[in-house]
Amino acid sequence: MFSLSGSSLYVEALDLWIDSMKTRERCYVSHGHSDHAREHRVVIATPNTARICRARFSRRAVRAPQLSLLATRERPRAEVAFEEHEFNEPWSEGEHRLTLFSAGHVLGSSQLLIEGERGSFVYTGDFKLASSLTVEPPEVKRCDVVLMECTYGSPQYVFPPRNEVAGEMVAFARACLEQDAVAVFFAYSLGKAQEAMAILGGAGLPLTVHGAIDTLARVYVDAGIPLPPYARYDAATFDPASVLIWPPGGKALPKALRGRNVRTAVLTGWSLDRGAFFRYGTERGFALSDHADYPALLQYIERAQPRKVILNHGRRDFTHRLRALGIDAEYLEAHAQLSLF
Ligand SMILES: [Zn+2]
Repeated sequence: MFSLSGSSLYVEALDLWIDSMKTRERCYVSHGHSDHAREHRVVIATPNTARICRARFSRRAVRAPQLSLLATRERPRAEVAFEEHEFNEPWSEGEHRLTLFSAGHVLGSSQLLIEGERGSFVYTGDFKLASSLTVEPPEVKRCDVVLMECTYGSPQYVFPPRNEVAGEMVAFARACLEQDAVAVFFAYSLGKAQEAMAILGGAGLPLTVHGAIDTLARVYVDAGIPLPPYARYDAATFDPASVLIWPPGGKALPKALRGRNVRTAVLTGWSLDRGAFFRYGTERGFALSDHADYPALLQYIERAQPRKVILNHGRRDFTHRLRALGIDAEYLEAHAQLSLF
């Protein structure tokens, strides 16, 4: 029996956890974002996701003792072992064949295909179909059942073409420089920030990035993704004529910007929402997203041709929209136990 439980994704037939937020004996990690990647005893991932996890896990491990005296009493972290699989190099587990293939979300991000005698199943993890400068091209495979994210599963989310968004970002940064203002782009440290570096630096703009962004940018470069020259932020040497890329979590702007003319922008698909700029406290927002927009979600289903679509991470009303189109769709509730085939 191939069944799936919803609170923490678990495939019974393979004794396999998927993107679990709790530490497990053996878990597949689709990509390096912290809402998917945790330290497990054995992490199954692509080599590039493993690289990102190593960089992130070691950063946390080094930081822990500095947080408080209590932290020094904690047991040392168990070593994480990585079971690495390249895209489209299947392996067998019992009666099943497993394959990782590109999700196009961030560097190394994968989808998981499980094939058995009774049918095939794909877990998409976070994905996008739009091509980007710093991520492996995405792929869609035909399957019987797909479990997909639907972050932007509502018709108002139609992202403009990426080259158009990139052009607007560059124009904003140039206008800031001409006005003697520092342009600050808020972007997630993993994925969005490196894409912003490729777009802005590729247009010849000088770049300064936050330390966490630099750490992950080095992983990209090690993995063979070329990035333009940049400086790691240092208050003492900061060049105010450069464009600053900063994580959205670090709300406070760096010291070197105090007393300067600063203009801010956020990079997120939610920029399409009215009032998004207020939510992020920025002057501008650019719809540069690492997720599929509404048309791309439908396009994915059309290409994968599943007989059943299971949804998670996103809008429940997408289920009703799919059913109206004659597609068998179900939202994966936290405590659901689904028997697939
Ligand atoms: Zn993600």
